[in-house]
Amino acid sequence: MSGDLHGTSVGVVGAGFGGLSAAAHLAREGADVTVYEQRPTVGGVAGRISENGFQFDTGPSWYLMPDLFERFFGAFDREPSEFYDLERLDPHYRVFWTDGDRADVPAGIEDAAALFESYESGAGEQFRRYLDQAEMAYDIGMNRFVLPGRSRLRDYVSPTVARSARGLTLLGTMDDHVADYVEHPKLRQLLEYTLVFLGGSPYNTPALYTLMSHVDFGMGVYYPAGGVWSVVEAVAAVTRNQGVDIRTETPVTSLRPAEGGVVVETDDSRVVHDRVVSDAPPAHTERELLPSGAVDRADGYWADRTLAPSAFMLYLGVEGEIDSLEHHTLVLPPDWDDHFTALFDDPAWPDDPAYYLNIPSQTDPSVAPEGCETVVILVPVAPELDDTESMRRQFRQQILADIAETTGVDLRDRIAVEHTACVSDYAGTFNKQGGTALGLAHTLWQTGPFRPGNRVPGLDRLYYVGGDANPGIGVPMCLLGGEHVADAVREDVTERTLLGVLP
Ligand SMILES: Cc1cc2nc3c(=O)[nH]c(=O)nc-3n(C[C@H](O)[C@H](O)[C@H](O)COP(=O)(O)OP(=O)(O)OC[C@H]3O[C@@H](n4cnc5c(N)ncnc54)[C@H](O)[C@@H]3O)c2cc1C
Repeated sequence: MSGDLHGTSVGVVGAGFGGLSAAAHLAREGADVTVYEQRPTVGGVAGRISENGFQFDTGPSWYLMPDLFERFFGAFDREPSEFYDLERLDPHYRVFWTDGDRADVPAGIEDAAALFESYESGAGEQFRRYLDQAEMAYDIGMNRFVLPGRSRLRDYVSPTVARSARGLTLLGTMDDHVADYVEHPKLRQLLEYTLVFLGGSPYNTPALYTLMSHVDFGMGVYYPAGGVWSVVEAVAAVTRNQGVDIRTETPVTSLRPAEGGVVVETDDSRVVHDRVVSDAPPAHTERELLPSGAVDRADGYWADRTLAPSAFMLYLGVEGEIDSLEHHTLVLPPDWDDHFTALFDDPAWPDDPAYYLNIPSQTDPSVAPEGCETVVILVPVAPELDDTESMRRQFRQQILADIAETTGVDLRDRIAVEHTACVSDYAGTFNKQGGTALGLAHTLWQTGPFRPGNRVPGLDRLYYVGGDANPGIGVPMCLLGGEHVADAVREDVTERTLLGVLP
């Protein structure tokens, strides 16, 4: 701990993973940190619904990149295992294609290669080659850019980085890149589905994100006992342990730049902090909290962004056991292009969607009453769709019928507990632009130097963290972003202090 931030007061808007991590790292540096969270609980989109013994994680359910969780806890001399047990899942997931085909994607690379070979002669070897280059992309992407927090344009154009990035088809689409390795449409889907974690499509996400296949196949898919809520509780405990004051049910109503600080207004307080970090979506921060024109942005900047999908979510407490679905199950139409069109090009409720079922009770009996299952269904849908009650009801019927037909599991007459969330909930509950669930998609023009950075243009005491800022979407990325934003605050405070003592 450097203690460089002793005497610095920092306000953090929002207690998602990014906000909590930022708060913990800043407090570790000696800052006096207050977190303002509008909701009754911390965790942001990583929420928890508990009812009649069913425990639902409302947001993230895939625990990927375990090393970044270790890195977060390690910064505070703690380990994830002090808070929760981790189990590696095998298979990683099961896929049901709507043409009646199904496959389990195993944890072992050789077994996965055999699966690829069974669909296309030579694809097993091509899969190994694909994973080799995915690992290389991961090493370069993570070690050179993401971990050190290098996201300015000058970092990308430095000769060393340009040399090491040679060979990566950085500018091409994932779809073109994957097609260089395998032809079978189903194998291409298996290599491309990880893009949904980034809120993109194979046609608008740059090939750099091939690194996600290393995250998936190379590093593994894990489950934290008790669900992702155990991780939220652990991160919040570490944050509180650093002395951070977390105020829930305290929406920030405005942010005002002031001489030597930023004024944070809530319904019943007005506090001047030396620095403020916003984990609330930047579009909300700039359009609803700050005075208009306070941030240096081109007109129409936010309206022109490519938003990641929203989600139609069903949280179902189901009576009886379900044998044929895995902890993670994907349902995919063999041709998923129409769904991507309905998400990005021509927004509409999808007729033939690709979607995901999460059944953590397959691994962890503690999240459902005995003999029952906790089922979460996530269907990506376009942001800004009009999700009226009748449309939601109709879509629910469509999806439950589709599950019955495709997987043979009819949930309809076994539902004991039910909750739902959709576009208007992400917009209303979390202030997400257009009701996107994930934030800004990771298109080429919203990656690295082109994504909002930690420092806010034109305001030298305001910072961003969270999925919309660098490094981007996903729990591990948001935890890392908290570390980076604390570094940025420390650098700026140190620079100002040095300037103050220089003649
Ligand atoms: C359905 C779903 C599934 C996902 N699945 C995965 C997965 O499997 N694995 C994975 O790694 N990631 C997954 N993600 C992505 C991951 O959950 C997010 O990228 C990450 O949790 C976002 O964290 P954040 O720091 O951006 O904050 P958020 O979670 O967006 O939280 C921001 C907080 O700010 C608060 N806030 C907003 N405005 C104000 C205001 N004016 N005043 C006070 N507080 C305010 C909000 O209430 C909220 O608590 C998923 C996301 C969703 C929605």
